[in-house]
Amino acid sequence: MKDSGDFLRKASLARAALAALEQHDLAPEPQNYALFYAYASGSEPLLKEAVDGILREEGALSRADLAMLCRAFLRDQALGLTWHELPLDPIGNAPSASRDATTSAAAALSAAHAAATRNGSRTATIDLVRRLVAATRSIEERKRLIEEELVRSRAELDALQASLDNVRHETLNDQLTTLASRRHFDEAFERAIAGTRESGAPLSLLFTDIDHFKSFNDRYGHQTGDHVLRLVALAVKQNVREQDTACRYGGEEFAVILPGTAAAEAMVIGEEIRAAVMGREFRRRASGEKLRPVTISIGIASFLPGDTASSLIERADRCLYRAKSSGRNLVMSDDGQPLRERA
Ligand code: GH3
Ligand code: MG
Ligand code: MG
Repeated sequence: MKDSGDFLRKASLARAALAALEQHDLAPEPQNYALFYAYASGSEPLLKEAVDGILREEGALSRADLAMLCRAFLRDQALGLTWHELPLDPIGNAPSASRDATTSAAAALSAAHAAATRNGSRTATIDLVRRLVAATRSIEERKRLIEEELVRSRAELDALQASLDNVRHETLNDQLTTLASRRHFDEAFERAIAGTRESGAPLSLLFTDIDHFKSFNDRYGHQTGDHVLRLVALAVKQNVREQDTACRYGGEEFAVILPGTAAAEAMVIGEEIRAAVMGREFRRRASGEKLRPVTISIGIASFLPGDTASSLIERADRCLYRAKSSGRNLVMSDDGQPLRERA
C-alpha cells in the first residue's frame, strides 16, 4: 500500500457514508453513496448545511431531495458542475469560455432552485440554493464587466500601437518630400560607414543644394517653392539606385548615401541628378505659369581610411561649397575638378 494513511482515511469515509445511508434508510446506490461520501468528508460545507437543514425540517430525505442535492453538489451529473467548480477566477484564461461556464453553472443552479421550490417546504435548502444562484449571477456580471474592460483595453492598445507606428514613420520620413528624414540619414550613414570599414567596399556621399532658392521663394512665394522642392526631391529619387538612401538633409538640401560606390561612379550619378533637375520644366501649380529654370549644385566625397561620419560629411560639404563658388549648377568631388561645366 503506497499511502496507508490515505487508504485508512478513505475507508473510514466510505464506512461513514454507508452508515449514513443505513441510518436514513436510503438505498446504497452510487449517487446516494457519492453524496454521503462528500457529506462525511466535509469537503462541501454547503452540502452538509443543505442535508442537515432538510433532515431537521423533514426528518428524512425524499427521492426528489436526493436528486436535487446530486444536481447541485455532485460532479458529472445531469446538470453539470458542482457549486465549488464555479469559475471564480476574475480573469480566467479565455473570458468568453469562462463566461459560458458561469452561465451554465447559473442555469444549473437555477434548475436546482426550481426543483427545490417545487418541493415546497424546504426553506433552508431553497434559501441556500437561492443564495448560490445570486452569487453565481454576480460572478457572471463581474465577468461581463471584466470582459468589456478587456475589449476596451485591447482597443486602446491597438490605437496606441497605431499612433506609435505613425510617430515612427513621421520620424523616419520627411513629410514634404517623402524622402528619408535627417534622423534616418544619421542612422543609415553610421551603418554604411561601419559596413565599409568592415568590408573595405567603397562608399560615397552626395550633397545637393538648390541654387538661389531664396530668391526663387521671394519671387514666386513659399508654396511654389515647396512644390519645386518636391519635384527636385523626385528627380533625386528617380536617379538613385535601390541600394542608395536619399534623404532630406535640411531646408533645400538633400543627401544621398551611395554604398559600394567609388568616386568616379558617384560623379556619374551626381551628374545625372544635376542634368535631370536642369532639364525639367517647372510650372506654377495653380496657373500653369512657366517658372524660371531651377538648378542644383552637388558635392561628393568618397570614404578614405580613417574617415568618420563627420569627416566625410565635412568633405562633401566643402565640395558643395566649391561647386557654389565655382559658378553653381556643377558637380564637384573631393578629387578636385567639376565633371562638367554649366550648360
Ligand atoms: P545658394 O545658391 O547659395 O544655395 O542660394 P540659396 O538662396 O539657395 O541659399 P540660402 O541658404 O541663402 O537659402 C536657402 C533658402 O531655401 C532659404 C529658404 O527660404 C529656402 N528653403 C529652405 N527650406 C525650405 C522649404 O521647406 N520650403 C521652401 N519653399 N523654401 C525653403
Ligand atoms: Mg542651402
Ligand atoms: Mg541653396
